Amino acid sequence: MKFRNTKLEGIETVNRRWSWLQVDLDAIRHNINVTKSKIGPNCKLLVIVKADAYGHGAVQIAKTAINCGAAYLGVATVDEAMELRDAKIKGNILILSQPPVESIPLLVKHDIMPAIHTTEFAIQYAEAADQAGKSAPYHLAVNTGMNRVGVRHNDVLDFLKSVSFHRALKLEGTFTHFATADIADEMTFKKQMSLFTQLIDSMKINDYDPGIVHAANSAAIFRYPESHFNMVRLGVCMYGYYPSDLIKQYVELKPSMSVHARIVDERILGIGEGVSYGHKYRARSSAKICTIPIGYADGLHREATGKIGVIYKGKIFPQVGSICMDMCMFEIDMNSAIAQTNYNAQIGDEIILVGRDGDAEITVDDLAKASGTINYEIICSFSRRMPVLYV
Ligand SMILES: *Cc1c(COP(=O)(O)O)cnc(C)c1O
Repeated sequence: MKFRNTKLEGIETVNRRWSWLQVDLDAIRHNINVTKSKIGPNCKLLVIVKADAYGHGAVQIAKTAINCGAAYLGVATVDEAMELRDAKIKGNILILSQPPVESIPLLVKHDIMPAIHTTEFAIQYAEAADQAGKSAPYHLAVNTGMNRVGVRHNDVLDFLKSVSFHRALKLEGTFTHFATADIADEMTFKKQMSLFTQLIDSMKINDYDPGIVHAANSAAIFRYPESHFNMVRLGVCMYGYYPSDLIKQYVELKPSMSVHARIVDERILGIGEGVSYGHKYRARSSAKICTIPIGYADGLHREATGKIGVIYKGKIFPQVGSICMDMCMFEIDMNSAIAQTNYNAQIGDEIILVGRDGDAEITVDDLAKASGTINYEIICSFSRRMPVLYV
């Protein structure tokens, strides 16, 4: 038997394995546009595309966001920045925390801006850029209370004093990060705001231009307009998810991700027959067990076993039996005549694990709750083993 390469390559990823993610780019555009209307025309927008754009595919999301007016792209790692450069994306890229000193040549070569929080890194970065005949733009990460990375707010002037002799080094922005912008208690947020504002003032008094000043993450963008400064950093809300329930009152977002699969096998079980590893679930009546090819290696947490549903033909059916690495099962109770005629699921039928069909809806938050985690972790843990289709 002969195979033609062009024909083999034409077999789409969704037909190689029956599970995939769909990302609605109109929803992403909507979420960016409501953000822009909130921040106004004089405030820049940095969109966070770290972790493969929270699982949505970094290259496509970055292009979409730039077309919607984003001025900056934020990533977590050098490799994430280089993936964007490899895709011929030209805009400003900021790595949100300082990478290893050893990676400096890559930053200089590909014009990737680091966040900096040590003098050693700053000097080495400046020297590498100088040798390449380039300048060394950076954003200064300031710690005002998150206590993760950053120069402590009251050490910033000393930091600047010790690096400012270097001609190549260019402070393009100064930023901090909030620890509590999405929780009810406002005390820590207010403390961080006041420390940061005082710092920016004292930088100016001492003739250091802070450049682009930014602080707000998604929660702060919508809840605290006073935290916008010159730029905001839009993360989870761009994808249509809320940092916490508290933020829902401030903005209406459109979720962009849905999760789909097709049934790969089905069988009718009698009462008492077990399903999946450990037989922890047993059929309570005549039940059709349908198998879909998505498991914990795809980001469907095993912890969610038995606590989630699956939408089939506009109705939610319970997931049953331990979630396996590559597959899981759901059950259709076949006792009613309606089930036998309308829900007689067959191999190849499509189901929705996250998304909506008619009145039936399963959200990322539902999955997060069942998995004992937050929506952020759910969206970014869907693995690249599932292809992403943009619709
Ligand atoms: C990830 C990240 C953000 C985005 O946070 P969201 O809550 O998703 O908006 C903003 N700033 C920094 C420094 C980050 O690391």
